Amino acid sequence: MRRESIAENLRNVRRGIAQAAESCGRNPSGIQLLAVSKTFPAEDVAFALDAGQFQFGENKIQEGQQKIPALALLGGAGRKPEWHLIGHLQSNKAAPAVELFDLIETLDSPRLAAKLEHQAAKRDKRQRVLIQINVGNEEQKSGIEADQAIDFAREVESADSLLLEGLMAIPPWDEDPERSRPHFRSMKRLFDEVCSALGRPLPTLSMGMSHDFAVAIEEGSTLVRVGTAIFGRRVRQVR
Ligand SMILES: *Cc1c(COP(=O)(O)O)cnc(C)c1O
Repeated sequence: MRRESIAENLRNVRRGIAQAAESCGRNPSGIQLLAVSKTFPAEDVAFALDAGQFQFGENKIQEGQQKIPALALLGGAGRKPEWHLIGHLQSNKAAPAVELFDLIETLDSPRLAAKLEHQAAKRDKRQRVLIQINVGNEEQKSGIEADQAIDFAREVESADSLLLEGLMAIPPWDEDPERSRPHFRSMKRLFDEVCSALGRPLPTLSMGMSHDFAVAIEEGSTLVRVGTAIFGRRVRQVR
């Protein structure tokens, strides 16, 4: 039951991504799907893996510490999942974050960059990161302010053990995706500005969730983070 419904939801989401891409003349293969497994058990991740989904997102270190090793045990000889951290990271948790996650999407301060650089260097790892932008200028939300993005990107770029792959944003919540469109659009503009300031194209602009990924794709997203539409509604609310 659970296995089939996750597989079917994945097919539907992939179809939605392809339709959104085609509707605006983009190649669907340029859009990655991150399955957000927070609050759901490792077994659900294993079902998604069996259905051909390999990128997963978690928002808490502690939950990652339980789920990610459990999956290494559950998972057979198949392809290894790739894990993204999509929740706020406190700098005192930099060590486990570097140990567990392939891509940290929520780099949001110079202090955290320094900690990640230090922890990655210690492990001889090049830690892939995205800079999180506070696109709605929300007081309670973490992220770099848009007008600081280029300076901060240059700083991250100069850190030997960090590999900057792009930007990530969570626009202010609105159930109407059309109202998020201007935020997605200004993120795409900022993304292009950062790429030209660095003099190289960055691969990843992470934006769009279950209810608004189609609009995010129309505005240039290259990675959508989808939880509810794949795994169902979360009982424990985490944000
Ligand atoms: C939970 C979460 C998502 C997924 O949200 P859904 O609405 O369930 O698709 C995406 N991005 C971030 C940062 C999240 O915390």
